[in-house]
Amino acid sequence: MKAQFGIIGGTGVYEPDLLEDLETIDMDTPYGPAVMQAGTYRGRRIAFLPRHGPGHQTPPHRVNYRANIWALKELGVTQVLATAAVGSLQPDIAPGSLVIVDNFLDFTKTRPVTFFESGRVVHVDMTDPYCGRLRQALAKTARRLGLAVRAGGTYVCVEGPRFETTAEIRLFQAFGGHVVGMTSVPEVVLAKEAELCYATVCMVTNYGAGIGAADGTAGAPEPLTHQEVLKVMGQSVHRIRELFLETIAVLGSERPCRCPQAVSGQAPLGQRHGDTGDGKGEQGNGSNVAGLHVPGSGSGGRGEPDGAGGDRP
Ligand SMILES: [Zn+2]
Repeated sequence: MKAQFGIIGGTGVYEPDLLEDLETIDMDTPYGPAVMQAGTYRGRRIAFLPRHGPGHQTPPHRVNYRANIWALKELGVTQVLATAAVGSLQPDIAPGSLVIVDNFLDFTKTRPVTFFESGRVVHVDMTDPYCGRLRQALAKTARRLGLAVRAGGTYVCVEGPRFETTAEIRLFQAFGGHVVGMTSVPEVVLAKEAELCYATVCMVTNYGAGIGAADGTAGAPEPLTHQEVLKVMGQSVHRIRELFLETIAVLGSERPCRCPQAVSGQAPLGQRHGDTGDGKGEQGNGSNVAGLHVPGSGSGGRGEPDGAGGDRP
């Protein structure tokens, strides 16, 4: 039932035939349901979570990111590899490229962005939003497998579900973005709040509106269709699958990075600033208040947020 590794991605990223002891897991979280499949690959227990739901029925701005991350955490997952289909903002990042992003710009508008809505103020550090240790492991595995990946890049996250205008694409380029997509925020933020190691490999499916290839072959702006995106994604998905499974096969359970202390390593805000705070939400500092209170995390119980209707872990 438990799993140590998580993969968040779309159809095709995992191949049920490659896995042993496959089972479907329906989780009920304080934020709503999450459906996963779990299986074993070379001794590693992996949970597969289709971000948009089993039938790809949830649009990016309506994805229940909190339920997804909560469910993985509750299952025991500590390390998560995610995929995301993106558009390219740079002529030299062609459709079909894989990019291990290491930063993001957030242009989302309507999404719940934190587990810490009340009870305790948490400002989680975003110096290294995508776990550097996982990113290095992915890049190393890609080299070993002979897969061409770009290590590093800034993900511009937009609200969607519409595609971007040509003016927006020009703006994102000027801001230093490399790829643009609709799902990495708040997923990466929530994973950090949950003290999970989390990395994303982007599948570039198209050029952003108005961007042409470096060699001039795709200079004319073409209307972008979802079918076009799906076609390129289908060609990239087997490479992502190989990369993820082979990376997991060499990862251990040790996490010598800062992710496990992303929240618990913070001094409560009142103490940090030398005042006493408001006296609320500072009880039980350390691991008990940090991260998500889920079974097995040492806090005991179901981990429901203090009767506040599920707005805080
Ligand atoms: Zn980490």
